[in-house]
Formats: sequence, structure tokens, C-alpha cells
Amino acid sequence: MAINVTRSSLPKIEDYVEEIRPIFESHILTNMGPVYKKFQRMLIEYLEVPYLSMFVNGHMALEIAIQALDVKRDHGEVITTPFTFVSTTHAIVRNGLNPVFCDIKTDDYTLDPAKIESLITDNTVAIMPVHVYGNVCDVEAIDEIAKTHNLKVIYDGAHAFAEKYKGVGVGNFGDATMFSFHATKVFNSIEGGAIAFRDKKYRKALHELKNFGIHSPEIVDAIGGNAKLDEFRAAMGICNLRRVEECMRKRKVIYDWYNERLRGVPGIRFCKPNPNATCNYAYYPLVFDREEFGKSRDEVFDSLLQHGINARKYFYPAVNELAVYRNVYNSTNTPVAHDISLNIITLPIYEELSLEEVDMICDIILSCGR
Ligand SMILES: *Cc1c(COP(=O)(O)O)cnc(C)c1O
Repeated sequence: MAINVTRSSLPKIEDYVEEIRPIFESHILTNMGPVYKKFQRMLIEYLEVPYLSMFVNGHMALEIAIQALDVKRDHGEVITTPFTFVSTTHAIVRNGLNPVFCDIKTDDYTLDPAKIESLITDNTVAIMPVHVYGNVCDVEAIDEIAKTHNLKVIYDGAHAFAEKYKGVGVGNFGDATMFSFHATKVFNSIEGGAIAFRDKKYRKALHELKNFGIHSPEIVDAIGGNAKLDEFRAAMGICNLRRVEECMRKRKVIYDWYNERLRGVPGIRFCKPNPNATCNYAYYPLVFDREEFGKSRDEVFDSLLQHGINARKYFYPAVNELAVYRNVYNSTNTPVAHDISLNIITLPIYEELSLEEVDMICDIILSCGR
């Protein structure tokens, strides 16, 4: 059987049935009903954030957060990273704003704070960094820059569920943080997402904009869409939230075993996450130095594939090199992102992956080397 990069986490079917039983009794299927509210309370407590609004998915959460933070302006620019899933950039562009790509750091692939300020112009309205692979950004430096220049910060925290920075929930930094609960993420509600935020003033906008801008039955006071999280997905989220700590513990064993097998191999580079942050073990990225290792990332990827192992070239191409954007935005000023995207691979990691399978994957990789 093929081994994929991830495998969606599921609760016991009995647990899910128990959680959706009240829905069959109440006939309330959506529109922020009792299951949504229960899930919301559990998440606020677990993530240790003051406020949280949940959405049908992470992407719509991000799009609506930009709208709710009211940063839209003619020719408005958002400083962001090209080393991410395309959703981050699309959310900016679909709001009529222009992404300005800033390069990333070589050690953890997050936005390089030292390169942000030179990109700030009179049109800059916000910074949108990404906690890529769950590597927590340099939140203090970024928030400081934003304060100095009066910019909003919206973190794409799709990969950073459950993480803490200096003991504080990662959703407490910047003006807002998006979490994704997509089936492939470390924690899922099938599809789903949320915006964590600290300032109560955004609560109304986030709540209304995901429900057509409806304020009350006879008052529609904003141009909203429909991005509500329904009761069945909220129920799945509740079930998976009860298991997420165990799930991360199991992933850590795999993560540590990869480290054990691959550390010290010439030409294999590991990311160095922020030492002040915790890790959720969502991804296992590796960078290959072709000269030193002897084979390229693509050759390693193909070898794995021949053995039925679907690793992923996350994130390749970099967003500013994707067909839709490469003729619109200049990618020459983000050489680090370009280089990492050419040489990175993410290896399979999920709860049920056995250490024997990890050994097999490592053996294939090592057999590619010199
Ligand atoms: C998954 C992901 C998203 C989008 O989240 P969805 O819940 O799939 O809409 C956005 N940004 C990043 C970095 C992601 O990995």
C-alpha cells in the first residue's frame, strides 16, 4: 500500500455518532448553533486565545480577516512570503490588494524581519507572515516593525495549531492569526478554520462577514459572503480536539526517529525552528544539498515514489513562480525562497506511520546519497 505524506486523523466512529446525536434531535445543522458554540469554547480554552471565530475553511477565514481588519485601500500592499501554500497570496489578491514578496530566513523558512522594512512604502497596509511547517515566525521583531509603521499583522498560522511561543498561545500575536482545520492538517474538522484575535472590536465584523453581513433579521450592514462552519464539522472538530495531544505525541515519536536516522548525513539540512516555540510535529521537511548529498531533491523524490512513498515538494514552486503569478510579480528578490523551494521535500508523518515504515523511507533516502 502506498504511503502518503499524511493521513487524515479520525476519531472512533462511535464518538462521532455521540457528538452528532444532538444535531438529529435539534434539527439545527448550521448557523452557529450549539455544537459550533461548544467547539468554539473548547478551542478558545485549548489555544489560550481571547477571541476566536470559526469558518468553513482556513482560506475563507484569511480572506474575511483581511476584510474585517479594514485594511483595504487603493493600491494597498501587503508584505508577505512566497514560501507558502498559494492560499496566503490568493487571500491578499482576492481582496484587491497587492502582495509584496519578502524573502525568508535560511534556518526556519519564515519571513525574514531584517528584509521587511526596506519593502515598506506609503501603500503598505499590512504584513502577512506564515508560520510555515509550524515554525513560529520571529513574532516579536515582526510585531515591533508593524507597531513602528502602524501596520496590521495577520499571521497565516495554518500549520501552527496548538503551538506556543514563550508559553503563550501562538494565536496571541499580531492582530489576527488564521488556523486551518483541513483534513490534511495536524488537527482537522474535515474542512474548517478559525481566526484568533485579541481586540474585541473585530468580533462583530468577523461574525457578520461570514454570514452575508447580516447583523439582525432586518439589518444587513456589510457586504459579507457565506463561510460558516456547520454543526457536523464542528462535531468532528470536538472529537478530534480530544485526541490532538495524543496524536501529536505519536507524531513526535516518528519525528524523533527521522532525526535519529538522518542527522549528520552530509548534504541533508534540517530546519531550525525558533527555540522559544513548541512544535506540533505537523511536517517533516528536509533540504538536500545536491553537491554534498550526491543526488538532487527531485531524484530523491522519484526514488521514494518508485517505492510507493508519496513525499511532497512543499512548497514548490514558490508562490511568485506559479503560473498565475510569475509574470505579475518579480521573484528575483526572493532568492532564499527560490533556493529552498527547489531543494526541499516533506516526508510522510502521521499517527499510524510505523517506525518500520520510517526506517524503510530513511533507507531509501540514504541509498540515494554518496
Ligand atoms: C492549508 C493552508 C491554507 C488554507 O487552509 P484551508 O483550510 O485548506 O482553506 C492556507 N495557508 C497555508 C499555509 C496552508 O497550509
